[in-house]
Amino acid sequence: MSEHQGRGQDYSLEGDSELRFEIEQKDAKVVVTLVNGFAELFGTELVKKKKYEFGMGAKVAIFTYQGCVLHVTGKMDVCYISKETPMVQYLNCHAALEQFRMEAEEKDRRGPVAMVVGPTDVGKSTLCRILLNYAVRVGRRPLYADLDVGQGAIAISGNVATILIERPASVEEGFPKTAPLVYHFGHKSPSGNSVLYNAVVSKMAEVTLQSLNGNKRTKSSGIIVNTCGWVKGHGYAHLLHAARAYGACAIFVLDQERLYNELLRDVPSSVHVVLLPKSGGVVERSKELRHECRDQRIKEYFYGNARAPFYPFSFEVKFQDLRLYKIGAPPLPDSCMPIGMKAEDNKTKVVAVTPTPALIHHVLALTFAESVEDDVIGTNIAGFCCHRSGYGKASRDATLAAAPTTATERSAAMVRAAVHGQPYL
Ligand code: ADP
Repeated sequence: MSEHQGRGQDYSLEGDSELRFEIEQKDAKVVVTLVNGFAELFGTELVKKKKYEFGMGAKVAIFTYQGCVLHVTGKMDVCYISKETPMVQYLNCHAALEQFRMEAEEKDRRGPVAMVVGPTDVGKSTLCRILLNYAVRVGRRPLYADLDVGQGAIAISGNVATILIERPASVEEGFPKTAPLVYHFGHKSPSGNSVLYNAVVSKMAEVTLQSLNGNKRTKSSGIIVNTCGWVKGHGYAHLLHAARAYGACAIFVLDQERLYNELLRDVPSSVHVVLLPKSGGVVERSKELRHECRDQRIKEYFYGNARAPFYPFSFEVKFQDLRLYKIGAPPLPDSCMPIGMKAEDNKTKVVAVTPTPALIHHVLALTFAESVEDDVIGTNIAGFCCHRSGYGKASRDATLAAAPTTATERSAAMVRAAVHGQPYL
């Protein structure tokens, strides 16, 4: 464990090396300044003399191609310089995508769709961030699709989402998540409802590929697709489905030869499948930490963060004014299904939900669909709301608990809502 407090410490980095650090302690604050040379954090260039602040939970690598001096103050739990990084290989992937983009630009065709796949904690999201940053740094305007419902980095977990990337990610906060295109799934793993997962992925792929035609620069820039870390069995089938839905032209496989070989076998030979090493710096997260990250992301969606706080307000909505639905009916054998329907169809069925206290603390998605006759699954969502027990209105909840159906008419739900509205792609 190294401690660097008070006036801090200078780190001299040679070319092609990176300073890695982790902050685990609550209230710890680390400030990094680029004193000399050039450096970048996951593809975003650091500005010389600017102070960058990192807090608890930060797992960071500041990389330099040319060499640099960094000044660091604050207390870190892990801090070291590594000369073994796969950054040059990642840069080569970017260069290959650029070739596709230039060709697409010339011929007014769609740019490359590149998928990043691999098990959990191999740096998939980090590689996406690097590729997107490099793309915008050379004037591209790509889309970023996140199919990882486990973390839900763009919206919240349980959803798939796409954003337009127009500028490099902020060093401290990543990409801005305003105006995303979000489709609701409702489980933290695709295994929660495989049929629905494939349906929302297909829909998002269809809509985003279509939207590319609306902007020439985005069209030639293409899409970077992040995926779930579930790569075996059905998880692998989901990856193949996504690759087909997006018409991926490149698949970057991080750290798993088995997955790489399976993909080589199963995708058309026109798709470039590339095996890449994971960075030694990528930090493994325990189940608990993953859970914490999910919670943190939900909190951030509603309340923002210290730098950009949001102030959501609670308001009461009468249950009679709400229509609550869940997607997926309990499975029935094919023999019990109405003629012409398969058991699979039940998985995407929209089923009305009666409000009961069991809904308290559940996060619900607000759909743009106007009625269940609309394509609810295929309609993007406007935001999320959280059904809460009321402020000092426990009696009202008690009423709900005692007689949920009659209370429906009289009672109100305490709803904490946040909307991101229509996407900007
Ligand atoms: P995945 O998407 O495969 O689950 P992530 O890209 O989210 O993995 O990486 C896991 C964690 O490792 C993240 O907190 C990220 O900031 C950190 N990380 C990634 N690359 C490095 C690196 N080179 N040095 C230090 N930490 C890193």
